[in-house]
Amino acid sequence: GAALRVRDVSKTFRAADGATVVALAGVSLDVAGGELVALVGPSGCGKSTLLRMVAGLDAPTRGALHVGSNPVTGPGADRGLMFQDPSLFPWLTVRRNVEAGLVAQGVLRQRRHEVDELLALTGLTAFAGAYPHQLSGGMAQRAALARALVTHPRVLLLDEPLGALDQFTRMRMQDELLRLWAARGTTMLLVTHDVDEAIYLSDRIVVLSPRPGRVDRVIDVGLPRPRR
Ligand code: ADP
Ligand code: ADP
Repeated sequence: GAALRVRDVSKTFRAADGATVVALAGVSLDVAGGELVALVGPSGCGKSTLLRMVAGLDAPTRGALHVGSNPVTGPGADRGLMFQDPSLFPWLTVRRNVEAGLVAQGVLRQRRHEVDELLALTGLTAFAGAYPHQLSGGMAQRAALARALVTHPRVLLLDEPLGALDQFTRMRMQDELLRLWAARGTTMLLVTHDVDEAIYLSDRIVVLSPRPGRVDRVIDVGLPRPRR
C-alpha cells in the first residue's frame, strides 16, 4: 500500500477579518513507499498547509490522511520534518540535536551507533560537538536532515528545505538529499517553489493548481528516467 494517502482533503481558515480562506479544496494524493514526490504550485496554493496536515500540525476541515495504515491524528515519529529554517535546538550540540528523537523514544542507548552513522552520512562527524551557531547554512540543514531521519520515519516531509541557501550550496545539498534518499530509501514529500529542483530531485511532480470554488486540480507528472 501507499506510504502516504491524502483523500479528498479540504482546509478552510478563518482570516483575522472574519473572512473564510479556502486553502485546499478536495485534494487527493498518494505517495508510494520509497518515492520522492515534489509538490509544486504557485505561492498560496496550499502546499505548506498540506504538508502541515500530513505532519499532524494542523487538522483538515474535511477528508482523511494516512501514513501507511495509520490515520494522522497528530505529530508522530513516523514522519520526519525539515523546514527552510533548520530549527536546531541552539543549546544542544549537533550530536545532541540528532539524538533528540531517540531520547524522546527512550531508545538512545540501544541505537547510539545509528547517530554516528547518520553524522557520517551527512558529513558532520567532525562537527558533532559544535553548536548550531557555529555551522554554515548548508551544514545546519544537514544537521536538520540527520535529526529528521534518526527515528527512521516512514515519510520525510520537507518544506522548502533548501530555500534559504545560496545557489551553490543549494545545488550541493540537492545531491546530498539524493544520496541520503538512495542510502536510506526514505519516502519523501518535498515542497518547493523551484521547478528545476523538483525535476532534478523527484520521481514525480505533483502540481497543485487552485481553482476557486471548485476542487483543486492535482496534476501528476511522472519522471520515468534512469537516475541514481
Ligand atoms: P503555499 O505554501 O502554497 O504558499 P499556504 O499553504 O501557505 O500556501 O497557504 C494557502 C492559503 O491558506 C493562503 O491563502 C494562506 O494565506 C492561507 N493560510 C495558510 N495558513 C493560514 C492560517 N493559519 N490562517 C489563515 N490563513 C492561512
Ligand atoms: P556548506 O556548503 O555545506 O554550507 P561550507 O561550504 O560552508 O559548507 O563549508 C565547507 C567546509 O568548511 C565544511 O565541510 C567544513 O569542513 C568547513 N566549515 C564550515 N563551517 C565551519 C565552521 N563553523 N568551523 C570550521 N569549519 C567549518
